[in-house]
Amino acid sequence: MFSQFALHERLLKAVAELKFVEPTPVQAAAIPLALQGRDLRVTAQTGSGKTAAFVLPMLNRLVDLKQKRVEIRALVLLPTRELAQQTLKEVERFSQFTFIKAGLITGGEDFKEQAAMLRKVPDVLIGTPGRLLEQLNAGNLHLEHVQVIVLDEADRMLDMGFAEDVERLCNECPNREQTMLFSATTGGAGLRDMIGKVLKTPEHLMLNSVSQLAEGTRQQIITADHNQHKEQIIQWLLENETYDKAIIFTNTRVMADRIYGHLVAKDYKAFVLHGDKDQKDRKLAIERLKQGGAKILVATDVAARGLDVDGLDLVINFDMPRSGDEYVHRIGRTGRAGNEGLAVSLICHGDWNLMSSIERYLKQSFERRVIKEVKGTYTGPKKVKASGKAAGVKKKKADKKGDKKVVAKRKPTAKPKPNAPLASADGLAPLKRRKPAPAAE
Ligand code: AMP
Repeated sequence: MFSQFALHERLLKAVAELKFVEPTPVQAAAIPLALQGRDLRVTAQTGSGKTAAFVLPMLNRLVDLKQKRVEIRALVLLPTRELAQQTLKEVERFSQFTFIKAGLITGGEDFKEQAAMLRKVPDVLIGTPGRLLEQLNAGNLHLEHVQVIVLDEADRMLDMGFAEDVERLCNECPNREQTMLFSATTGGAGLRDMIGKVLKTPEHLMLNSVSQLAEGTRQQIITADHNQHKEQIIQWLLENETYDKAIIFTNTRVMADRIYGHLVAKDYKAFVLHGDKDQKDRKLAIERLKQGGAKILVATDVAARGLDVDGLDLVINFDMPRSGDEYVHRIGRTGRAGNEGLAVSLICHGDWNLMSSIERYLKQSFERRVIKEVKGTYTGPKKVKASGKAAGVKKKKADKKGDKKVVAKRKPTAKPKPNAPLASADGLAPLKRRKPAPAAE
């Protein structure tokens, strides 16, 4: 129950109004510590309820402020506009019975209007690092009275090259009393470096080992012969699966546009979202999807980051994402807040090695699915006799359910060093080495 937390009654009233009854695990773990003013480093996947985990303690700090709004007291940094907009909405929902005002500063919006908003001085400022710095450099932003900073999706901000900007913004808040950093993954050296620089003896809350990823989501792979075959499979899935809303991920903008074109030609209500789209298109796509005007979104990774759309219960990976972390983020779109979801990855010859690296990274074996109506010829790597020269590939028996389940097991040519990065297929982003996954049966 939320009433167990020492939250101000006006915030509890909002929580009740929003019909949040039981705190999620990340909320149960983070809220009490955050209310004590501790610095926190929280590893929790998207969809776990982490926004409320930092927004409620942050608002609690500000709710009784006697002074009129004269200074920005809280700063929330996020990697993308959409995520920033969603966080603003959450802040507004939770602060609806208080006098706290929040403002938003992201790229793609009018610079002067933002400057005018800053002159009115919001209590809470939410934004993306690049535009915030531009406003700072223009002399429109004053952060010296910020008491609390939240870095949300910090791993992603680093991936997007915001490390220096984030650090600079943190340095602009010398009087801050609390810093909370949230990331979906444990991140690498860059994240550790940032944590060392911006957090003071933080409590580390690990809420998702990646193996607990999206517990409510079934994860399947379907093998395909080529891209056209993948498109047939997509069409079959869209026609035969029961879903409220679906998202199809591609690695490239060109492919996103192509799939979108095919869907529209077949009268599907779809939208496409990628880096070439301007802010207006992106807003419209998200609005349409939320309101049900479109049921299908075709998107690249960056464009879909931070999307929180209710009822998004089918994720299709047209191609495999380039890293295990990106897979976690994609799948995090579904199975949110305890709902059930289905994630299907379409695997051609060129995707196979990457898919098995991701399985090893997650220490999971995806369910192999065969759809007889659109069955192709490719079913995974062929059985090769281990020759001592080349890396061997073994084929294991079908699983108990009777699905064709083919698990490739690489035979390493040389003994790998314990912490050496795993080269993924095609020399793409290396995947973090974990303990070797047990061979799935
Ligand atoms: P987040 O991970 O913060 O993006 O939250 C994912 C979704 O879960 C959002 O739509 C939240 O409004 C919802 N949510 C978060 N916490 C709770 C809760 N304790 N009870 C019900 N819904 C929640």
